[in-house]
Amino acid sequence: MIIVKDLKKSFGDLQVLKKIDCHIKPGECVVVIGPSGSGKSTFLRCLNRLEEPTGGQIIFDGQDVTDRSNDINKIRQKLSMVFQHFNLFNHLTVMQNLTLAPVKQKLMSEAEAEKKAMELLTRVGLAEKADVYPAQLSGGQKQRVAIARSLAMNPKAILFDEPTSALDPEMVGEVLDVMKALAKDGMTMVVVTHEMGFARDVADRVLFMSDGVITEEGTPEQIFDNPQQERTKAFLSAVS
Ligand code: ADP
Ligand code: MG
Repeated sequence: MIIVKDLKKSFGDLQVLKKIDCHIKPGECVVVIGPSGSGKSTFLRCLNRLEEPTGGQIIFDGQDVTDRSNDINKIRQKLSMVFQHFNLFNHLTVMQNLTLAPVKQKLMSEAEAEKKAMELLTRVGLAEKADVYPAQLSGGQKQRVAIARSLAMNPKAILFDEPTSALDPEMVGEVLDVMKALAKDGMTMVVVTHEMGFARDVADRVLFMSDGVITEEGTPEQIFDNPQQERTKAFLSAVS
């Protein structure tokens, strides 16, 4: 589903991604862990070109994301992103947040988009919140709306950048449960998170990033129970 070859990204003189290679298979849930500043967000943002890579190639669903002649908006419809700070439209209701893009991009009629939005809100447990504004929601509810909004575009894969880091602790579980259900339903997901319990339970594969490189990868058992690299061991003992 996603092939990354020799991906590099610099900001001026600062080389943030040095050489990233990875393959993500359809239906896989890949969790990316690693110290703050190691380039995890930059990596995710390059995948749907919120950041312009400095070098290398990214193929998503057979399309070259790095080829500027491809319509990036079409690619982002199918490769959506969920952010730490939700990025909901605060002047729109929950329903409008979900229907805006599909209707504007002429993927669905308004009636179809509303029907689909209600199904998705039901799926994330928020059907009764369709007509309220984001300000009336808790953080956990906002993030569940943001996930429903990504799903409204019928994406083939979803990127999550620390989706629970801005939440009060008691709301983390409700968001992780929605993500866990998505993974179980076979959604292709790349998740940057510090929730090691989620990584252990839900990930098919864990990538450990350090200084702009994937320095270790494996199954959750390999990474958490038998890490090979000193950097991985040091990180895991600091977060657990
Ligand atoms: P992580 O998500 O792993 O914490 P980031 O990808 O956010 O790491 O950042 C990696 C490095 O890139 C950091 O040193 C950060 O300061 C730098 N960086 C990120 N975005 C920018 C930017 N837009 N301009 C300059 N430097 C940036
Ligand atoms: Mg980050």
